[in-house]
Amino acid sequence: MRVLLTGGAGYIGAHTAVELLEQGHEVVLADNYVNSSPKVVDRIEAITGHRVRAYRADVSDRAAMEALFTEQEIDAAIHFAGLKAVGESVAKPLAYYRNNLDSTLTLLEAMERHGVGRLIFSSSATVYGTPERLPLTEEQGTGVCTNPYGWTKVMIEQILRDYTAAHPEFSAVLLRYFNPVGAHRSGLIGEAPNGVPNNLMPYITQTALGKRDHLSIFGNDYDTPDGTGVRDYIHVVDLARGHAAALGYCAEHCGVEVFNLGTGRGYSVLEMAETFARVNGVAVPYVFAPRRPGDVAACYADASKARRILGWEAVLTLEDMCRDSWNWQRQNPDGYEGA
Ligand code: NAD
Ligand code: UDP
Repeated sequence: MRVLLTGGAGYIGAHTAVELLEQGHEVVLADNYVNSSPKVVDRIEAITGHRVRAYRADVSDRAAMEALFTEQEIDAAIHFAGLKAVGESVAKPLAYYRNNLDSTLTLLEAMERHGVGRLIFSSSATVYGTPERLPLTEEQGTGVCTNPYGWTKVMIEQILRDYTAAHPEFSAVLLRYFNPVGAHRSGLIGEAPNGVPNNLMPYITQTALGKRDHLSIFGNDYDTPDGTGVRDYIHVVDLARGHAAALGYCAEHCGVEVFNLGTGRGYSVLEMAETFARVNGVAVPYVFAPRRPGDVAACYADASKARRILGWEAVLTLEDMCRDSWNWQRQNPDGYEGA
């Protein structure tokens, strides 16, 4: 298939591009590089030995999307493009609603004009809000989000349900990611946050590198085995394989389907920091700090639906995640800057 990856130069998009190219698909990528770099395209090509058709384009730009869909015969789209910093979304809600919703609507309109009927959307476990029960199954309703970023995911899921209801031949797969970490084994692509990282793994890797003094562990008084927050970390290469499986699924089914993409296993912040230090033989100094507002104690997936229906499951271990994150960070201390 020829697959459009919006936001394909981003962290998850780039790993998915590699996976799809290696499985024999063609990749067309559209990114405005607000949170990535054109260098990613060269890295994807270096890893795979295949060409990527890359467009520098804002997915909200109707004319740019029209040109892309006219030039390329797209079979399916994977919509990664979006702003994703939770804290920033609280400070700049309009920018988040504008970018995330507009890009989705513009993409859908272009797909409709060009008769493209398969879409995979990057949703998030954040749509569940505070978990009612663990592990989280897809049947649990979407909850109350604590930030505009999360609401954009809930709203886009709804837009896709409404669109599919009106177009029963359309196929939309909503993938709810848990906590993606790790990097491609080559160390050529990985997560490159701007400024001070918000997420745990890049904070750990930058601390190990000495760019940050210490890790602050947000809360050690949660109702969890060691008191620190528990999350379902998933290797980004496993996540990328999940998209390839979803692509096969949406080629053969119509309607909306939701899948959790997680491992089904939760690890605490302390386990993460200690495993990272042990596997890589580096120090990760940490201090306990107050809870971060909006955080839940624990969040992990029931990943059985994806296993049953997509035939996909995560296979890489926590050790793989820690080793590959460090390999990427060591080789690229400043991300793609200066590369
Ligand atoms: P990322 O920021 O690395 O990638 C997103 C890409 O989209 C970037 O390359 C950015 O430049 C691009 N982009 C943003 N707005 C655009 C626009 N209007 N037009 C064109 N390109 C645009 O983020 P990621 O971690 O790869 O996440 C990909 C998707 O998965 C996002 O939608 C994100 O919300 C979602 N998601 C991520 C996580 C996570 O923890 N990384 C978890 C759940 C869901
Ligand atoms: N966390 C932490 N210190 C940090 C960043 C994160 O203790 O510098 C914790 C956070 O409180 C949560 C877990 O690590 O329990 C995962 O946080 P992240 O922001 O990576 O993901 P999310 O909160 O979206 O699940």
